[in-house]
Amino acid sequence: MPVNGQFAMMESPYGDLGNVISAQTLSYHHGKHLKAYVDNLNKLLPGSGLDGFALQEVVRRSEGGLFNNAGQVLNHTLYFEQFSLKARSMSASFAALLERDFGSVEAFKKEFEQKGATLFGSGWVWLSADCDGKLVITQQRNAENPVTAGLTPLLTFDVWEHAYYLDYQNRRADYLAALWQLVDWPVVEGRL
Ligand code: MN
Repeated sequence: MPVNGQFAMMESPYGDLGNVISAQTLSYHHGKHLKAYVDNLNKLLPGSGLDGFALQEVVRRSEGGLFNNAGQVLNHTLYFEQFSLKARSMSASFAALLERDFGSVEAFKKEFEQKGATLFGSGWVWLSADCDGKLVITQQRNAENPVTAGLTPLLTFDVWEHAYYLDYQNRRADYLAALWQLVDWPVVEGRL
């Protein structure tokens, strides 16, 4: 929630992410890109009529520049918070949900990577739950977030080039495949 109408910059939750995401990428991605979105959001909020609203509500109700910056703050918060160098594994009950909706955990991962790799331009690939609890994978462009479609976002991989280019150059698929090593599943499952 904003304090005095201002959203705070989230702390970087880790010093580095090993060989998967370099300290240099993390420093630019968190310290420069996310910081710019937070600063812009806080500049655009006063007088918008959405001052004091929770971030997800700002994303749901805004458009244009305010939507782009609020969306990117929400997206990056979910992205950074789900990773750990000491990532914990998936519970059997969550694996069962993935099996129910995608056939197997491996089939889910394959489809998630494929949808991330084939998203044209900048955006995000998401695992979300719909209003019936069914798990779905969506491609969202630019700053979009599944909350605008009434979905509950659980897991996301950022496929903007700033997320991987220093480490993987044009090899987006390699970046996506490597990210599973960092997913801290109890964080993802806690969003359900
Ligand atoms: Mn990003």
